[in-house]
Amino acid sequence: AETKQTLGFQTEVKQLLQLMIHSLYSNKEIFLRELVSNAADAADKLRFEALTDASLLEGDGGNLRIRVSFDKDAKTVTIEDNGIGMSREEAIAHLGTIAKSGTADFLSHLSGDQKKDANLIGQFGVGFYSAFIVAEQVDVYSRRAGVPAAEGVHWSSRGEGDFEVETIDKPERGTRIVLHLKEGEEGFADGWRLRSIVKKYSDHIALPVELPKEQPAPAEGEQAPSAAEWEAVNRASALWTRPKSEIKDEEYQEFYKHIAHDYTDALAWSHNKVEGKLEYSSLLFAPARAPHDLYHRDAAKGLKLYVQRVYIMDQADQFLPLYLRFIKGVVDSSDLPLNVSREILQKGPVIDSMKSALTKRALDMLEKLSKDKPEDYARFWKEFGQVLKEGPSEDYANREKIAGLLRFASTKSGSDAQDVGLADYVARMVEGQDKLYYLTGESYAQVKDSPHLEVFRKKGIEVLLLTDRIDEWLMSYLTEFDGKSFVDVARGDLDLGALESEEDKKAQEEVAKDKEKLVARLKDVLGEDVAEVRVSHRLTDSPAILAIGDGDLGLQMRQILEASGQ
Ligand code: ADP
Ligand code: MG
Repeated sequence: AETKQTLGFQTEVKQLLQLMIHSLYSNKEIFLRELVSNAADAADKLRFEALTDASLLEGDGGNLRIRVSFDKDAKTVTIEDNGIGMSREEAIAHLGTIAKSGTADFLSHLSGDQKKDANLIGQFGVGFYSAFIVAEQVDVYSRRAGVPAAEGVHWSSRGEGDFEVETIDKPERGTRIVLHLKEGEEGFADGWRLRSIVKKYSDHIALPVELPKEQPAPAEGEQAPSAAEWEAVNRASALWTRPKSEIKDEEYQEFYKHIAHDYTDALAWSHNKVEGKLEYSSLLFAPARAPHDLYHRDAAKGLKLYVQRVYIMDQADQFLPLYLRFIKGVVDSSDLPLNVSREILQKGPVIDSMKSALTKRALDMLEKLSKDKPEDYARFWKEFGQVLKEGPSEDYANREKIAGLLRFASTKSGSDAQDVGLADYVARMVEGQDKLYYLTGESYAQVKDSPHLEVFRKKGIEVLLLTDRIDEWLMSYLTEFDGKSFVDVARGDLDLGALESEEDKKAQEEVAKDKEKLVARLKDVLGEDVAEVRVSHRLTDSPAILAIGDGDLGLQMRQILEASGQ
C-alpha cells in the first residue's frame, strides 16, 4: 500500500476555508445539505456508470441510500453513502482543489458581508468544504466502485493548510465522512436535530436518507438492541415525478438549490408532465441571480437529464436555446435510450420537439412572472435581460413572445431604468401613432437630450431609449411588435405619417421651398462628407442634425465592425 502523504491545499481552497471557518456563522446547518447533496450525486453517478457496467454495483443490486449517524460521546456526525466513491487520486483532486474555473472570481466577489458571502458559497461548487463550518477535523473514507477493497483511501484534514491521504482497506463501496465537531457545535450530534435538518433540506433527494431508528431506552435487565436499525426520514422520491398539487413551494426551492448549486431562492418555476406522442417531465426554474460566468463561452448551462428516472448527465444544453442558458432544471424523458450520448442528443425529431416545447414553457414562465410579480421580474431583468435580448436573432419563431418580455428605458420615465415593456408602450400610443419609435446610443446621458427627440417631446410621443451594446443588433432582428413596425428616430427622413396635420405638412413644404438655396450651398460645402442634405422638420430647438441613412448601419454597429477590423 502507498504510504501516507501530506499535501497542501490549493491557495484558493485555503482562502475559502478561512472564510468558512471564520466568517460563516449564520446558517451553519447547511453543511449537512451539502454533504447529503454530494452523496446523492455520487449515487446518481454510480447508477449512470452501472448502465454500461453492471458489475460496479458489486452484487447489491444498487440498493443505494445515504446514512446519517452520530455519536454524542465522541462528538461526531457521520454521513455515509454507497455511491460511486473516490479513488486516492480523485480524493486528492476533488477535496484539495476547486476544479471549477472562476474561483478567483468567487473570492473577488466576497463582500465581507457575512450573509451575502454565505450566499455565494455553493454557487461555485465549494460545497464539501462547508464541513469545516462545524468540524475541527474531517475524515473521509472512500473506495471507488469496481476497484479492489485494498484500494480505499483515507483523507483527513483539520481545515488548515494541508490534508493527509493514506491508502486503506475499505470493503464497502462508497464514501463515509466523519465530522469531528468543534467545541460549541456538539449540539449537532443529536438525532432529533439531524432529522429535522434532513427533512428541511433533503426531502426531495431521490434516494432514502436514513437515520438510526430512535430506540426507547432499554428497560432494566433488558439488552439494548445490538444492530442499529435504520429508517428513511425523507420522502425519497424524485420531486418532478410527484403531482404538483402535493409539492410545497419550499420543496421546489430546496430542489432548485440542490440542482443549481445556488443558495438564493428561484424566482419562478414551471413543472410539467407531457404525455402522448412524446413522454417526459420537466421542471424549469428562473434563478434570481446571474452566475459570475454568464457570459463565458464554456460556462455551465443546460438541464439535468434523466431517462426514466435514471440520471444521465448534467448540463444537457440541447434542450434550450442559448438565450435561455440561465434557466436551470431537470428533464426526464421516457423516449430517449438509456445509453443516450451527447452526440445522439445533437439532433433528431425527439430532441427538436422537446426543445421547442421547453423553450415555450420557459418563455411562458417568464411571461407569467412579469404579469404576476412585476417586482420580481424587474430583478430578473436586471440579471438576465441582456441575455434575453439575444433571443430575437437566435429564435426568429418566438420573437414576438420574446419581444413582449423585453424592457427598455424610455422618454416617459425620465430615468435610465429599463422598465417599459412593449405592451405598455403600445397601450400609451397617442392617437394617430402606428409606429414604435426608438433611439439608440451609447449611454442614457448621451441620448436623453438628443435633438432627435425634440419633435416627439413636442407631440407627447414616447420614444424608447436603447443604450445597451446589444441593442442595435437586437433591433436589426426585431422589426415589429403587435403588428406595428419599429422606427429609429435618428434615421433618414422621419415620416410621422398621420401624426402630422395637413397644416403641418403645408408649412413644412413652404419652409423647404424657402430653404432650397441654403440646402444647395450646404451640399456644395460638405461635398463628399455627407450623402444628402435635407430640410428637416423634426427639430424644434436645434438648428441642424446628423441623421443616418435608412439602409445604413447604425452607429453602434459601425463601431463594433470597426473595432473588429471590418
Ligand atoms: P460539487 O458538488 O459542486 O462538485 P463539492 O465541493 O460539493 O462540489 O464536491 C467536490 C467534489 O468532491 C465532487 O464534485 C465529487 O467529485 C467529490 N465528492 C464529494 N463528496 C463525494 C461523495 N460522497 N462521493 C463521491 N465523490 C464525492
Ligand atoms: Mg456538492
